[in-house]
Amino acid sequence: MTDDWHAHALAAKGFMPEDEGLLLHRRALERLPHGPALEVGTYCGKSALHLAGAARIVGGPQAVVFTVDHHRGSEENQAGWEHHDTSLVDPETGRMDTLPIFRRTLERSGLEEHVVAVVGASTTVSAHWRTPLSLLFIDGGHAEVHAQNDYSGWARWIMRDGLLVIHDVFPDPADGGQPPYHVFLRALESGSFEEVEALGSMRVLRRVAGEAGAPVG
Ligand code: SAH
Ligand code: MG
Repeated sequence: MTDDWHAHALAAKGFMPEDEGLLLHRRALERLPHGPALEVGTYCGKSALHLAGAARIVGGPQAVVFTVDHHRGSEENQAGWEHHDTSLVDPETGRMDTLPIFRRTLERSGLEEHVVAVVGASTTVSAHWRTPLSLLFIDGGHAEVHAQNDYSGWARWIMRDGLLVIHDVFPDPADGGQPPYHVFLRALESGSFEEVEALGSMRVLRRVAGEAGAPVG
């Protein structure tokens, strides 16, 4: 657990508390022997490094992490919003661009060979996706429409016994936005998933019905 990957993950810019990141890493260690993992919401790579550290330990051609992001930031990352970071703005265009920072962070970590960056909108990529996933981590746009689209587009690709991990789940509105919590409830109510672990705002659910590719409701 105190391997070199962890120091890089801790140092990376991003939104992932240490204990929740270690949970993600531990669950990826469990699942990556069965197939690739996919993350929605790369940002600067903090959570991706937790997944990639597991991929390196597991090894083998199936232990790959795909991470999807258009790298233009979510609503709350834009200028004037709570989570805006001026160092992530492209000076030439004035638009957010987290791809260069992510790429440098990944290179420095030595984990590049375990991660495939997919640059595009979540819905565009998911519409073309066909590969069963051992683990899906949803941490993309937190507006209701984006959170729901991430579930609709990706959750069906989780294989039986695979894991759905959702970040920023806040049952109490006083603690944070509700869309990820709504997605968590939707997954439970679908009957396709059962909750297996909760820590902070992380929720881990296991697919208990259907096979990869079959809609999850
Ligand atoms: N997992 C990261 C944090 C992700 S922040 C960490 O560990 O720090 C959320 C990210 O989702 C942002 O980088 C934003 O660009 C991306 N995002 C938001 N909506 C998206 C969409 N519709 N398609 C692709 N990426 C999106
Ligand atoms: Mg998050």
